[in-house]
Amino acid sequence: MNPITETSSVTPLRNTFNPAMEDIRMSPIVSISEEARTRAKEFEKSGKPFVFFQRGEIDFPTPGFVVDAAKRGLDLGLTKYPKSGGEDFFKEAVAKRLRLDHGAEGLEPAHVIATYGGQEGLELSFKLFKSGAGFSPTWSCALENFVPFAQLDFVEVPLNRDFSVDFDRVESAVRGREFFYLNNPQNPTGKVFTEDELARIVDICTRHGVFIIADEAYEKIIYDGRHVSMVRVPQENVITVFTLSKTLSMTGWRMGYTVTRNAKVAKLLRLGNYTQTAGVPAFLQYAAAEAMNNVDESRQAIAAMVEEFRRRRDALYAGLKDLPRVAMDQPAGAFYMFPDFSEFIPREMTGRERDHYVYELLMENGIASVYGACFGKHFGDNVRLSFSATPVPVIHDAVERFRRIFR
Ligand code: PMP
Repeated sequence: MNPITETSSVTPLRNTFNPAMEDIRMSPIVSISEEARTRAKEFEKSGKPFVFFQRGEIDFPTPGFVVDAAKRGLDLGLTKYPKSGGEDFFKEAVAKRLRLDHGAEGLEPAHVIATYGGQEGLELSFKLFKSGAGFSPTWSCALENFVPFAQLDFVEVPLNRDFSVDFDRVESAVRGREFFYLNNPQNPTGKVFTEDELARIVDICTRHGVFIIADEAYEKIIYDGRHVSMVRVPQENVITVFTLSKTLSMTGWRMGYTVTRNAKVAKLLRLGNYTQTAGVPAFLQYAAAEAMNNVDESRQAIAAMVEEFRRRRDALYAGLKDLPRVAMDQPAGAFYMFPDFSEFIPREMTGRERDHYVYELLMENGIASVYGACFGKHFGDNVRLSFSATPVPVIHDAVERFRRIFR
């Protein structure tokens, strides 16, 4: 017998794998961030700060009371295999808090599944189906990751240019499909859907026997109007995905939860969670339960963060709103702005050159952004600016550069 390091005959290895893996793409946002880091080094030689408007990371620490609770969870020995789908103490805390914050009645712990961030809740929910629809623009991960991973047929329903909803389009898209993905507040537009818009979408989906996957990652980051959560809807065709990532600046904790009143769906999500990861570590769930149960501390922490985001939003919007040939809406939630540059981009320009035109111009002036083509097929002339990690003085500096470029 030859030693294991010496193989005799070699059959060429296959180089294509399960399409569920092969078809996943890495969001261009990742390569944009890499490019931004390289360009920043060069740009900062000029003595001016480089502005990182491309990222969705948050520049606040996780509140101390949550960090302390995680340490207590470790001291309590919550270090064994967790209960798949979530520990009872966590699910009870979630049901109670959803009643308090969103007026969700009749929720039970069995309706809650603990997940690795909103990401796992969404990925498992998409995987329940073979076909779906959702608004465009949309969070890039839905298109690049969840749709191919679930191998499902997905159609984008464009919002109008002012981000209002064309309900006829929603209705014809969901007809014969299985779910509608509804992200509210929305990444990348910062739109907060009104109660009336939500009621009409629920009505359409319910009439057609279609599920709603509601993604409420930014539920607490609201500046104007009111966020109405889908978790209030007492129906079995609703799956609502939450996360602590944005709410309490816990992006690296990977702590989220998904809620549904549909017993079969809850069971499948629990099994999916077990299959992938065997559950979220119990000491993290302990800390997350503290974040739910300690209403005063969590509300204070959220309010302080939202106030700072509001200052940033106001500074950015005030600086850009009067620019000629730039159309924009003031975002009512989340921490993104999605201005439209279609009047600015030369008419004859097409394809990749068009998609990258404003992005490149900004990059040359020391501002990283994300070009609209990352968020679906319909808003290629827009650019996403994130103010989640950019203090107001840097925003002022960026605004001056915008005014020079787009005057
Ligand atoms: N939904 C949207 C719209 C998001 O932008 C994000 C994160 N960027 C998530 C869900 C998931 O976040 P996480 O996995 O960190 O909870």
